[in-house]
Amino acid sequence: MPPERTDLTESSSLSSAANAPVAVTLVVPCYNEEEVLEDTARVLLALIEAQVTAGRLSPASSVLFVDDGSRDRTWARIETLTVRHPGRVTAARLSRNMGHQYALLAGLSLAPGDALVTIDADLQDDPAVIPQMIERFRDGHDVVYGVRRERATDSAYKRLTAGAFYWLMRRMGADVIANHADFRLMSRRAIEALLSFGEANLFLRGVVRLVGFKAAEVHYDRHARQTGETKYSTPQMAALAIEGITSFSVAPLRVISALGLLTSVFAVAVTVWVLIVALTNPSAVPGWASTVLPITFIAGIQILSLGVIGEYVGKIYLETKRRPRFIVDQTIGLPGAQVPDRR
Ligand code: UDP
Ligand code: MG
Repeated sequence: MPPERTDLTESSSLSSAANAPVAVTLVVPCYNEEEVLEDTARVLLALIEAQVTAGRLSPASSVLFVDDGSRDRTWARIETLTVRHPGRVTAARLSRNMGHQYALLAGLSLAPGDALVTIDADLQDDPAVIPQMIERFRDGHDVVYGVRRERATDSAYKRLTAGAFYWLMRRMGADVIANHADFRLMSRRAIEALLSFGEANLFLRGVVRLVGFKAAEVHYDRHARQTGETKYSTPQMAALAIEGITSFSVAPLRVISALGLLTSVFAVAVTVWVLIVALTNPSAVPGWASTVLPITFIAGIQILSLGVIGEYVGKIYLETKRRPRFIVDQTIGLPGAQVPDRR
């Protein structure tokens, strides 16, 4: 794309800005991650150091660890790291466990920098592609998605459930990138736009797509978790999937309407049939099956429908309360120590 050189001052300032080192903060949510923190910090700090030396990152770049109300020694480890690497390692501690999505949101609200990269503490997502993300950002992309190449290191169960989830999401009209979790880079203005989405039921992957701007993808292989164990149980994964679907799609409500219509047609057909039998054959006793089957069938659909509607009503209930999505207990090395949830 040839740049239009109509406004000389603007284009020259743009091109010099494109070559200037950028300040990037790596945002790492941590919940009971005491075993992995040391290694994670070492890898991420080495990466920043190398990029600063190469002149791509400014010395103001840093790592922000967000302790999501851990019950182990995670916070003590983080404090030690901030002392050992002043300015390079910053920290925020939430008042209690708020969940991965909200820990990320807290980090994005608090972190300084021209661009922020979110990455899980277990480094299952390969930090080696962060330099590529930074390159894409310097090329003028506002959002860079880390996309997993294959899921060989995940269990068959996790692959199956994740595959079903992405398929369902897309079928229901939510624009999600398959095999992209929460490993991505966002520019300052993309973050500002993201923070202006005030929904209490937060499914970041979906909201980031709504933010728009110029986006790119980088591809990597996902590693197995080195130490510690997954903090996502099956019920939590199911909760995230339901959250994702009901936050982004009213398709389940439409399915209910369609089911309602179908059962009504069915009921009319049964009525006609019963009437014909009753009129043409006075001695006929209506069968047990034709009575009981429709009752159980319709009862099932009714309960299912109520459940789905309840899911959305629950969402409305939570949204109307407008509770803060995260509460910061304490920060180390961050400007504006107590930034509240801005919405
Ligand atoms: N996490 C968090 N709060 C939670 C659960 C998880 O901040 O309530 C963090 C966790 O420390 C990790 C990231 O979210 O950095 C992803 O969690 P995990 O690796 O356990 O999930 P998985 O990779 O198994 O999906
Ligand atoms: Mg993980």
